[in-house]
Amino acid sequence: MLFYTQLPLNRHSQERKDNNWLLRQQTNNSKWVLVHNHHSLFKANTPELLFLDYQQVKSLPLWEAIYLGSMNGQGYFALDVTDLDPSILDSLVLGGEFKDIRSYGPLVEQQLGSIASLSRGLVHWHKTHRFCGRCGTKNSMFEAGHCRLCPNPNCKHMTFPRTDPAVIMLVLHEDKQGVERCLLGRQASWPEGVYSTLAGFVDPGESLEQAVAREVEEEAGVMIKSAEYVASQSWPFPSSIMLGFFARAVDPTIFVDKHELDDARWFTREELNTFLEWGSDQTGYKLTRHDSISRFLIEKWRK
Ligand SMILES: [Zn+2]
Repeated sequence: MLFYTQLPLNRHSQERKDNNWLLRQQTNNSKWVLVHNHHSLFKANTPELLFLDYQQVKSLPLWEAIYLGSMNGQGYFALDVTDLDPSILDSLVLGGEFKDIRSYGPLVEQQLGSIASLSRGLVHWHKTHRFCGRCGTKNSMFEAGHCRLCPNPNCKHMTFPRTDPAVIMLVLHEDKQGVERCLLGRQASWPEGVYSTLAGFVDPGESLEQAVAREVEEEAGVMIKSAEYVASQSWPFPSSIMLGFFARAVDPTIFVDKHELDDARWFTREELNTFLEWGSDQTGYKLTRHDSISRFLIEKWRK
């Protein structure tokens, strides 16, 4: 299973453009996801999200609410409370605490985790797109939080949430004895021993396959002969979609670009089976986190 991609909501993409319809969703039945500095509201000391109800939030600036969708007849909304008066915020979130969803990661029930990660991504997009990219005028939320509209009558530019594509690939090579290995690398800033798949953003003007080939060559000096798409993962941390590939190397010779990676190595399945889990305090090679598509690709290959 790929984490953060299990959204259970009907987005009502057409209906949400109708303000009257939207207001009717803000009922006693609705559920509210609060986001504070990229953190989501959890019950204290547990990986369980804490939703507020309409009665709890109705005095807040709900015109800035983002409609997420509906499930079982209940509307779900996200609300950025980062700038809310701390005393008001404290009284709202009694029994809860704001936490980075990735600090709990796989422990969060994944349908709800997908709601929280979508909320976080959309709130981030609004925060970073407050001015019209065409004329510089301050813009405002539109279409239930899925658009921003420039009020300049000579412009009226509409901006939509963007997702930055990034490729992530498990590069494979089979030696003359028929032993297959995968290429993993590590950045110096990562926890000791953690090795992961290579990855990078897609440049303008290149296909996904070209991005895979370029990133592998830039980071590890390895040429590839093919790239096969496997799966994708929404990754709103802050605004990416990860596009996962298996790639085949022409030659296993590695030349690490130290600006990009600290190290890169080939590992057999048997070697991977000796890796420690991410987060282990023992010394040794470690796998990536369970909630990453990197881990998904590694598990898919080694099973
Ligand atoms: Zn404008």
